[in-house]
Amino acid sequence: NRRIVLASRPHGVPTPQAFRLEQVPVPQPQDGEVLLRAVYLSLDPYMRGRMSDAPSYAPPVEIDAVMGAGTVSRVVASRHADYAQGDWVVATGGWQDYAVSNGDGLVRLDAGISHPSYALGILGMPGFTAYVGLLDLGQPKAGETLVVAACTGPVGATVGQIGKMKSCRVVGVAGGPDKCRYAVDVLGFDACLDHKADDFAEQLAQACPDGIDIYFENVGGKVFDAVLPLLNTSARIPVCGLISAYNATSPTPGPDRLASLMRAVLTKRLKIQGFIIFDYYASRYDEFARDMNTWLDAGQIKYREDMVDGLENAPQAFIGLLQGENFGKLVIRVGPD
Ligand code: NDP
Repeated sequence: NRRIVLASRPHGVPTPQAFRLEQVPVPQPQDGEVLLRAVYLSLDPYMRGRMSDAPSYAPPVEIDAVMGAGTVSRVVASRHADYAQGDWVVATGGWQDYAVSNGDGLVRLDAGISHPSYALGILGMPGFTAYVGLLDLGQPKAGETLVVAACTGPVGATVGQIGKMKSCRVVGVAGGPDKCRYAVDVLGFDACLDHKADDFAEQLAQACPDGIDIYFENVGGKVFDAVLPLLNTSARIPVCGLISAYNATSPTPGPDRLASLMRAVLTKRLKIQGFIIFDYYASRYDEFARDMNTWLDAGQIKYREDMVDGLENAPQAFIGLLQGENFGKLVIRVGPD
């Protein structure tokens, strides 16, 4: 039984030394518990926040504790009335081969499910984030211009595709020409710009001749700076993530721009709203699951995974995620089906 624990809290970009791979005995389930074996492990940007002990909406991972994560797991032994050996479940199994659960928070998947790993992406937390963030907070209307960055990842790609279904002009932002080509050719976006280009701000202005009505905020930093002057009156900004700053160790250098930001909020009547997806499961998850399954079955939503083999490769893959090395939803294949 292998597990990866947090060895030290990183300062800036995490290094492999922040993690430690350990061998421990396989835990034994007690009455009312199941033993789970991870098949797929989800790696997500929020985990960088959990490695830090700065105050946040969720407590940090303790030093020497297993890194937390969503998994798609098999029940390998059950002493729980509701679960049988062989069941597929979504669990918070963490970065390890085996975990014991008392059933709290487990979600059973259909026995014959064709893509169990999708429950960590398009049919799970990131897909749901895109759905709620765009539809409930972004309030897209036909003909509006929607801009979304990290646009080939599970959140951004879904935001943009739902935006197209709502007849928006969708402008994606991604790192590099391959991702941008994919956003236009496969995801069907109207345009996609490389945020690493020197003239990115000019390119964005050209791609949004009628201004920006919705900016779905995934990254912050330079992308937000380029978006701000293009925002239209009554633009909406669902603030979903700020990944460009997750490894930051000091405030961004340069003049204080808070006054000009607040002036834009006032004069353009901007609606900027942060959200954390946990808050929406009770009210919106069922509708999301119904819609997303329908859209996937009909081929209206495309989904790409970046599957990496081996639990031991999780630290390196996670470090890469924070720097744009993933192309699609980052998933670790921990073990065989
Ligand atoms: P992705 O798979 O899209 O991975 C993150 C991507 O961010 C990278 O691939 C990279 O894409 C981009 N990126 C990294 N650094 C920078 C940078 N400096 N400037 C611009 N882009 C950068 O992740 P997800 O789809 O899982 O998540 C997207 C966002 O949504 C994250 O900010 C995440 O924290 C947030 N989130 C928020 C939730 C909530 O409840 N509020 C829930 C789930 C996710 P590229 O190479 O294209 O630049």
